[in-house]
Amino acid sequence: MSATPAPSPVPEPGLPARVRIHEVGPRDGLQNEAAVVPVEVKAEFIHRLAAAGLTTVEATSFVHPGRVPQLADADELFPLLGDLTGVRLPVLVPNVRGLDRALARGAREIAIFASVTESFARANLGRGVDASLAMFAPVVARAADAGVPVRGYLSMCFGDPWEGDVPVARVTALARRLLDLGCAELSLGDTIGVATPGQVGALLTALDAAGIPADRLAVHFHDTYGQALANTLTALRHGVTTVDAAAGGLGGCPFARSATGNLATEDLLWMLRGLGVETGVDLGRLAATSLWMAGHLGRPSPSRTVRALATEES
Ligand code: MG
Repeated sequence: MSATPAPSPVPEPGLPARVRIHEVGPRDGLQNEAAVVPVEVKAEFIHRLAAAGLTTVEATSFVHPGRVPQLADADELFPLLGDLTGVRLPVLVPNVRGLDRALARGAREIAIFASVTESFARANLGRGVDASLAMFAPVVARAADAGVPVRGYLSMCFGDPWEGDVPVARVTALARRLLDLGCAELSLGDTIGVATPGQVGALLTALDAAGIPADRLAVHFHDTYGQALANTLTALRHGVTTVDAAAGGLGGCPFARSATGNLATEDLLWMLRGLGVETGVDLGRLAATSLWMAGHLGRPSPSRTVRALATEES
């Protein structure tokens, strides 16, 4: 086989020299796939992601096992990752009980999942925005005591299936509250994939004006309507250097009933390679990993780049 195809790099002035990819395939991706894969496959997946050069891999979620059957094996999975030194392995925790389980298994980095909108907070967390923040406060405090940094997810930043438009001021207000709680980093989620680039620029400008700079932020786009890369490029132009993505585009969109969910890490890599932005990730190894995982899930990867590279190889 010849070398993996790659775009011709032509840097764009003003973009960051390096981007850190926060890989969410094992958690956000597998959580939203219909198939449940065995814990040994998950462990191999995470090892393969690390071997491809990903330095942050969100590994699993310590939610109640009955709530997310796809990730009910967090207690079994995490000890299988103990040899992965030098790789950040954050885990999602919903509450203090989840945090205690995660810490007992050796997690050294956690994430919490907040909602900008009342409707999604009630649907996903079973309580409103204020009550969910009250639930998270002791989680963040206890994590701080343990020396464990906390990432705060903000879901529904750009539109909500029940409420429609989401005012920018609601996002900036929640972002401020999460930072004040003690979150080290915030990930701005387009949970239903409706955002377009002008909206992304407007939100990042508003956050900066509110004293929340791009170096505290990550972006988390979904490709439901084919906008994820355009939105990501806009965020890079606003100084964001941490981008969430899922290998192979794992995870459908549970609200749009679409097969296309998270931005595919391979699609992101193709664009960043073309822009001359460093990531440290090997595109060929990653795409091979996504093909392997697609075999376990029984459905083809929705990533255009994974599909194109597979065609090149066959
Ligand atoms: Mg997602």
